[in-house]
Amino acid sequence: MPALKGTGASPGIAIGKALVIREEIITVDRIEIAEEDVKDALKSFEEATSISLRQLELVREKTSAKLGKEKAAIFKAHQDILLDPALRDSVKSKIKDGRVCAAFAVQATFDEFCAMFEGVDNEYLKERAADVRDVGRRVVRNILGKKVIDLSALPPSSVIIAKDLMPSDTAMMDLDNVSGFITDAGGRTSHTSIMARSLEIPAVVGAVGVLDAARDGSLAVFDGREGEIVIDPSEDLLLEYIAKRDDYVREREKLEALRLLPAVTRDGKEVRLCANVGNEADAESALKHGAEGIGLYRTEFLYMQWNAFPSEDQQFAAYKAVCDKMAGHGIIIRTLDIGGDKDLPYFKFPPELNPFLGWRAVRMCLDKEDLFKAQLKAIIRTSAFGKVRIMLPMIISLEEFRKAKSLIAECKNELKEAKIDFDKSIKVGMMVETPAAVLMAEEFANEVDFFSIGTNDLTQYILAVDRTNKNIAHLYNPFHPAVLRAIKKVIDAAHKAGKWTSMCGELAGDESAVLLLLGLGLDEFSMSSISVPVVKKIIRNADYKCALKIAEAALKADTVEAVRKITHPEKPESPPICALPEAEAEPPTTK
Ligand code: PEP
Ligand code: MG
Repeated sequence: MPALKGTGASPGIAIGKALVIREEIITVDRIEIAEEDVKDALKSFEEATSISLRQLELVREKTSAKLGKEKAAIFKAHQDILLDPALRDSVKSKIKDGRVCAAFAVQATFDEFCAMFEGVDNEYLKERAADVRDVGRRVVRNILGKKVIDLSALPPSSVIIAKDLMPSDTAMMDLDNVSGFITDAGGRTSHTSIMARSLEIPAVVGAVGVLDAARDGSLAVFDGREGEIVIDPSEDLLLEYIAKRDDYVREREKLEALRLLPAVTRDGKEVRLCANVGNEADAESALKHGAEGIGLYRTEFLYMQWNAFPSEDQQFAAYKAVCDKMAGHGIIIRTLDIGGDKDLPYFKFPPELNPFLGWRAVRMCLDKEDLFKAQLKAIIRTSAFGKVRIMLPMIISLEEFRKAKSLIAECKNELKEAKIDFDKSIKVGMMVETPAAVLMAEEFANEVDFFSIGTNDLTQYILAVDRTNKNIAHLYNPFHPAVLRAIKKVIDAAHKAGKWTSMCGELAGDESAVLLLLGLGLDEFSMSSISVPVVKKIIRNADYKCALKIAEAALKADTVEAVRKITHPEKPESPPICALPEAEAEPPTTK
């Protein structure tokens, strides 16, 4: 009954059968075969080809039903590769003339074709090498009788246990049958965590050792808020988890009753609670949980779902669908934030030593004007149908912001000439994610319409701690006094210039940070939809006067521990929720 602890990444109690995704490396030996075995080897290749074609057909049908024909097209391309005459002839001749086993003949042939694609001076063909490799791997696994994990058809109540999960892994996953995710890697701001919260599936990340502790079919239970995991629990413990799950469901029902109430403190301070979304389904869940708008629409997920850069019209259709769903509520659409730890399946980023400090987000967009303008126009066109705002990620200089604004002006002119309607005074804001943006906050505040603090990146850049590196995860802490002082500086700069500040990093949805952020003067909190009701409850039970005291004390604190004592009191539930004892309002370590 191994018990493990990870980071609670998405709330909820999960109870289910483990499905362990191990990255098994298959080595294919060059086995020479006798002439009389050639027939069997050819038969084995043909059978594996048929099995692979059937598997791909199944995945294609499911993807098409769930995500549409366009997204499923990739599997048709995989089937075409499998049936390519040149490729098939090459495998067969290696078996017949080279007298090697089927698995080796397939591996060698697919390697040759990959090398050919990778060698051509054409980005599109280079990208196809990954598909060829994928198909080759599938055929080899089928020849060797190794299991191909089909995530599109899962048994009910599956708990997916993996090293890490990418958005592409979940795109085709049979999510209706997933009870929870556990990953060995990742922290609260990793994309697995963000995705799990947006799908409202309980998750624990950074659970080191889970891949060794669990077997396929083990019973896995976990608490997605506390990060506690038990594999094959005793009967008593299982009953405890079942009771916990029932309590959790009841607690959520109570919270949802706050849906239509404002986020206002007992002494009248009101803030906006918004949601972070990646698609139309997330927008639906934003409304379901009572979000007042969308504070961050991460458009990169849209880009990740296509097989090539989506056109202006394709993007417009997606943005408008979200806008229509939000029925008049504000939407902040962030321009493409790719690079760093986020790849696109069809675009090869140049290798970089420090991708988080590299060619990402607005830097890449400003270098690829056509691409950027297609997105800007799609967003601007959407503004004719709702309260749409543009937000630029990773800005470090006024030059970047001005350049982006001039491209926005260019797009508006072109749309005007084409007689396409849009909001002439569409607001343009920026994310504050870099120390440069914080230090220049006053200058930026004069030019932007709003700020949104991206604490996920801001924490990593202020502290110089890679947000994805589990060896230094203990150093990654948005409650570090340096991060808090940066947040305060940005909010003050905005207010001085008559502008407002939102926060769309994960800190905005962190229950322990709510009063602190309220006291720091944050105007809007944007978070995973599932966190909105809990944050609203905390605010409605709080006194703004106390929140101000908490913020004042936290700003004087000189260590993470001193901040922790203020923001994480021993009994966070002791009534009234905001009643920080006077004695603790002054951090003990502050001189
Ligand atoms: C952030 O950096 O805080 C943020 C919201 O952006 P992302 O997590 O998408 O990098
Ligand atoms: Mg960011």
